[in-house]
Amino acid sequence: MSKVIVIGAGPMGLAAAYYAARAGHQVEVVEASDRPGGMAAHFDFGGLSLERFYHFCCRSDVDTLELMAELDMTARMRWVETSMGYFIDGRLHRFGDPISLLLFPPLGPIEKLRYGLMAFFSTKRSDWSRLDQISAREWFIGWCGKRVYEKLWRPLFHLKFYEFADQVSAAWVWQRIKRLGNSRKSLFQEELGYIEGGTQSLVDSLVGAIERLGGVIRLNTPAKRIVIEAGRVSGVEVTGGDILAAGNVISTAPLPYIPGLLENGAPDLADVYRGFDNVGVACVIHRLRRSVTPNFWVNISDPAIEIPGFVEFSNLRPTDDTIVYVPYYMPASHPKFTWSDKALADESFAYLQRVNPALSELDRVDSHVGRLRYAQPVCDVGFAARIPPFITPVAGLMIADTAFYYPEDRGVSESIKFAKRMVAALGDTTGT
Ligand SMILES: Cc1cc2nc3c(=O)[nH]c(=O)nc-3n(C[C@H](O)[C@H](O)[C@H](O)COP(=O)(O)OP(=O)(O)OC[C@H]3O[C@@H](n4cnc5c(N)ncnc54)[C@H](O)[C@@H]3O)c2cc1C
Repeated sequence: MSKVIVIGAGPMGLAAAYYAARAGHQVEVVEASDRPGGMAAHFDFGGLSLERFYHFCCRSDVDTLELMAELDMTARMRWVETSMGYFIDGRLHRFGDPISLLLFPPLGPIEKLRYGLMAFFSTKRSDWSRLDQISAREWFIGWCGKRVYEKLWRPLFHLKFYEFADQVSAAWVWQRIKRLGNSRKSLFQEELGYIEGGTQSLVDSLVGAIERLGGVIRLNTPAKRIVIEAGRVSGVEVTGGDILAAGNVISTAPLPYIPGLLENGAPDLADVYRGFDNVGVACVIHRLRRSVTPNFWVNISDPAIEIPGFVEFSNLRPTDDTIVYVPYYMPASHPKFTWSDKALADESFAYLQRVNPALSELDRVDSHVGRLRYAQPVCDVGFAARIPPFITPVAGLMIADTAFYYPEDRGVSESIKFAKRMVAALGDTTGT
């Protein structure tokens, strides 16, 4: 068995390290940040350990559930009946099940039928090859008509992807609809899950299991360079100039960082990873004295509200105060990305007040903003053909991030599943 260095201690990196250690490899994880967990990491929100970015599980998250069973954590999964709201034309409506669709005033009868058929057939479909070839915009208009697209979907896309909105592939959106559409107790009742103690519980268990298997996790240790000699990987140079030697390297760092790791050593390979667009996120978390709505999600379509929605997390995981996440997804070049935390918190709170005018300044307890420069790959039309093979031409080197499991959207379970695939391929990375 060989030495494996894993770059990144997010869910994919930790799962890769765990499965590799379990298979008998000697494992070392290098993580740039001061904590493990990546996008799923927690922070201390005034004594409450909470995800920096909201995290829920779906019934279809089989790889998370399997891993939790292996780590003796099954009893820590909690399933909760949740609901979705839509704030549109100045009013909050229930949304996301057949009855609420029938009662949804913004759509006419034919539009409701078309929308319902799209949602129903999305959960049944499995072949996505044609959807990879068209944009989400074309797909929605084809199913539901231009008016419904403009009213319901365009605001959501444009306030997440901005200049990339019209390029997003239908396959990516379809997969999201399918994942959520299948996480239901019945046709009429959505059901989502959370891990007791949050995703940190899973991260902590993984870290413990890796260490028990003899693995080492180095925090505050950014990889600077993947060292390649004669077409084979020989290690990773970390900050400070130390070179950690290894015959295998699995990188799980977001793709935009990869060219920098390969430039000195494999410039041609570095070029393969350029040109993958990502949007960032500045995610505001409000701690409030009162609930905003009874829903877990609220989508928003309102010209005066520049967010696509918010997540009232305490309607999933019970907490003493109300916890609401307001994610501002945007390219990092967008002016709002550099707004102060206070400006984002004030603006988003004013938006919450529009949805629930009973909210007052007195209800605000605290707020926090988590930022990521690369939070969501832009999976555009024809994306499947653009994803490089995760087994690179350099012997011993594998590279992947959340874009590699397209059309599935980034998710903890999907990252765990992909990690298993990479570990299974450890013996195959002979290079070309
Ligand atoms: C706002 C938001 C909400 C989300 N909600 C959900 C949800 O509800 N359910 C769900 O399942 N998923 C959700 N996700 C997605 C989920 O968090 C990701 O799919 C998952 O964390 C991806 O794991 P990963 O290990 O592949 O990548 P990451 O979590 O991005 O981990 C990559 C790691 O690499 C590290 N790194 C980067 N560069 C270097 C370097 N040079 N050297 C060493 N380390 C490096 C990073 O610091 C990071 O820790 C959400 C994400 C966001 C942003």
